[in-house]
Amino acid sequence: MSGTLYIVATPIGNLGDLSQRASEIMSDVDFIAAEDTRVSRKLLEYLKIKKELVSYHEHNSKESGDKITSRILAGESCALVTDAGTPGISDPGERLISKCADLDINIVSIPGPCAAIAALVLSALPIGRFTFEGFLSTSKKSRFAHLDELKTEKRTMVFYEAPHKIKRTLNDMLTVFGDRRISISREITKIYEETIRLSLSEAVLLFEEKIPKGEYVLIVEGISESKDTQEDFNQVLEKATLYVSDGMSLMDAAKKAAEESGVSKNKLYNAILKGQQA
Ligand code: SAM
Repeated sequence: MSGTLYIVATPIGNLGDLSQRASEIMSDVDFIAAEDTRVSRKLLEYLKIKKELVSYHEHNSKESGDKITSRILAGESCALVTDAGTPGISDPGERLISKCADLDINIVSIPGPCAAIAALVLSALPIGRFTFEGFLSTSKKSRFAHLDELKTEKRTMVFYEAPHKIKRTLNDMLTVFGDRRISISREITKIYEETIRLSLSEAVLLFEEKIPKGEYVLIVEGISESKDTQEDFNQVLEKATLYVSDGMSLMDAAKKAAEESGVSKNKLYNAILKGQQA
């Protein structure tokens, strides 16, 4: 009978956040698959756990994943840990989990810290619905394509970011999203933990001066319903009317302008119609 893969969340800074169950599972399994064995060895030393560590990271995921799953299929149990937080959230854990699922291996989650969730609740923004976006690409083209896709997103958005890219990311977000609220959390659960809640334009100004240090999560407000103000609406309507003058059908013009702005298509359609009848 095959063994089990345990997805074990580890601290994102403060070691006190490791759960009792996570510790017990790491003691009980046959081996631990770790993103960086040096990082996980320190955690095991702190917990006084002696256990075989197997390296599993982005660059050896195929070969190491095959070995790990063969061992689990032969009956061994494995704890999957990454450098920090919940394996699978913007780290190589995702591939191993999917491979185990494909092989019908039993998978158990040992939940715990996750920077995205910690930053979301710290943001004080509406978090009833949110979307996790992970890291933006380093390629300008892909980064802008990603941000463009989110221009009319209503849900609160979560981004991970490295300190040396923060300034550029904030500028790009302001360019694409326009001004809106953002919460920036860094070094959550660590000594220099800090959360600042401000507008994107204020954040851009702040980081002209501030030197970013540590690990960051950016929580960005979705397009606000209040964006659909009369003034904004009139601008979008003007654009849609121009599309009609350029030869587009009324429905297509309303649809295009709605997609570009996030304004309701039906509302636009009715307003263009009303304008034509006036
Ligand atoms: N699996 C992890 C999780 O559950 O959050 C995330 C792994 S991802 C490779 C690392 C990114 O998570 C960092 O670049 C940073 O954006 C975010 N992060 C991790 N720890 C953090 C912390 N203590 N404070 C703020 N952000 C953190």
